[in-house]
Amino acid sequence: MASTSSATAQAPDTFDAIVIGGGISGMYQLYRLRELGMKVRVFEAGSDVGGTWYWNRYPGARFDSESWSYGYSFSKELLEEWEWTEHFSPQPDTLRYLNYVADKFDLRREMRFNSRVKAAHFDDAETLWTVTLESGEQASAPILITGLGPLSAHTLPNIAGRESFAGHAFHTARWPREPVDLKGKRVGVIGTGATAIQAITEIAKDAGTLHVFQRTPNWAAPLHNRKITPEEQVEIKANYDEIFARCRETATCFIHNTDPRNALDLPAEEREAFWDKLYSEPGFGIWVGNFKDVLINEDANQLASDYMAKKIRERVHDPAVADKLIPKNHGFGTRRLPLESGYYEVYNQPNVHLVDINEEPIERITPAGVQTTAAEYAFDILIYATGFDGVTGPYDRMDIQGPDGRRLKDDWIGLPQTMLGVQNEGFPNLFMILGPHTARGNIPRNIEELVDWVTGILKFMQENGHTRCEPKHEAVADWVTRVEEASAMLLSADVNSWQTGVNQNVEGRQTPRVLGYNGGTVRYRRISDAIAEGGYKEFLFE
Ligand code: NAP
Repeated sequence: MASTSSATAQAPDTFDAIVIGGGISGMYQLYRLRELGMKVRVFEAGSDVGGTWYWNRYPGARFDSESWSYGYSFSKELLEEWEWTEHFSPQPDTLRYLNYVADKFDLRREMRFNSRVKAAHFDDAETLWTVTLESGEQASAPILITGLGPLSAHTLPNIAGRESFAGHAFHTARWPREPVDLKGKRVGVIGTGATAIQAITEIAKDAGTLHVFQRTPNWAAPLHNRKITPEEQVEIKANYDEIFARCRETATCFIHNTDPRNALDLPAEEREAFWDKLYSEPGFGIWVGNFKDVLINEDANQLASDYMAKKIRERVHDPAVADKLIPKNHGFGTRRLPLESGYYEVYNQPNVHLVDINEEPIERITPAGVQTTAAEYAFDILIYATGFDGVTGPYDRMDIQGPDGRRLKDDWIGLPQTMLGVQNEGFPNLFMILGPHTARGNIPRNIEELVDWVTGILKFMQENGHTRCEPKHEAVADWVTRVEEASAMLLSADVNSWQTGVNQNVEGRQTPRVLGYNGGTVRYRRISDAIAEGGYKEFLFE
């Protein structure tokens, strides 16, 4: 692998490593590659850093992770300097944070913005990846690292007539940078996922009328966000070591961990008391800190679902509307749980209307608005909160070709064949941060560990004079089996969601696949650390 000294002799568009994506993954990966003395280029489609937090500017966008567990942990100085203002940071603050990080470590120096990569092809003879931007520009490097994020390929609904709408229409992940005046406007929102649940709660405050088009209701629980007091700020800064140590010992890297008891073993009052407690506490405790049988046992899950349904009925005045908001086709927690700040109460407002599109399917988008089988709804603004082609979608949108023109997209029509989710078989020197089959939870925690692991294997290559790395077939087969086994007992494995790669708007993505390692981050770390300590025997080097 090229060193810094050889890099100086390279052509200006040739690097030691190319990173795609300038979000949390790409920024940290750049920081680490610099330490290896590599000449790096980061290509980012947006006009600045931030990834998810750059694109998703919709009102109400904020963390569902505790802010102080979400930021980068690699720099004590950064932890000391930065002050989160709220326990669950709103998007503008988070973007400000990522800009602060970029400035502090002078990251933009190696980053190119407004640079969407459309293709990456591997030259087998030269051991060189060449990426092509949408502008036609090209750059090459032996190492290609993707930091695309699992939720960056947003999808518009496959509804006829979308182009005909005469008002202002956009996807939440493309919320305009200039302020959108919702005051008194007739607004329509399609979708009721985690994004919609945050956005609707805010939009309802300003809109003249708001119609929400719901296909599948989701279970949602209160976020309980609040400002961080000066005393808490001091405490947070003094306790970062404990906070990150706690994240390392939980299955999902959140501060919450599964309760060791089974819901089914407890008397109803004890169970309900625990759920009351979780429902009144901030964050994901009610999801990832619930009884250990809730996400794996149908009967336990039914009890938890009944509890959550009762809460919805308590909060929504009209019983018919409450009933529509209660999921019927999936149990509590089997999709990524949206956290809300007054979502259910929104439906008690006279200006907000829930349209169940199972009862009156959408026929088409018209110049005026949305035509269902029952009525035409006229809007000034139409918002698509219709989600993402999860995990593999961002890769599918690029033309990634390995040796002999082997296309990653073709490989990924079925189940990806990865080693630790970091490399796909047959694609040498392509390393993925948060690719399919990695453990996912509190995302920046996963990212830091993955970036450190990838940096470790690159350092190993440098030290041993290796120029090429790909996983062994047996190692991949073993990992894929482990990934499948880890998901087998989960109720979520058969549920349609971005986490299982289902997106009704994308051809070929109608049925669930296993796209994450669900054995927990503790186990994932144990396995991946053992591989590193054992000298990466699961990989072939040249
Ligand atoms: P999502 O959960 O996939 O929700 C998309 C919504 O759009 C669903 O209700 C879906 O209905 C609906 N939809 C899609 N196509 C449609 C169509 N053609 N007609 C009608 N409805 C349609 O996407 P998301 O809400 O953007 O959230 C994705 C993920 O982003 C979350 O699960 C979470 O991981 C992440 N997120 C994180 C935060 C945070 O950290 N604070 C905030 C927001 C999002 P169906 O369910 O019927 O398909």
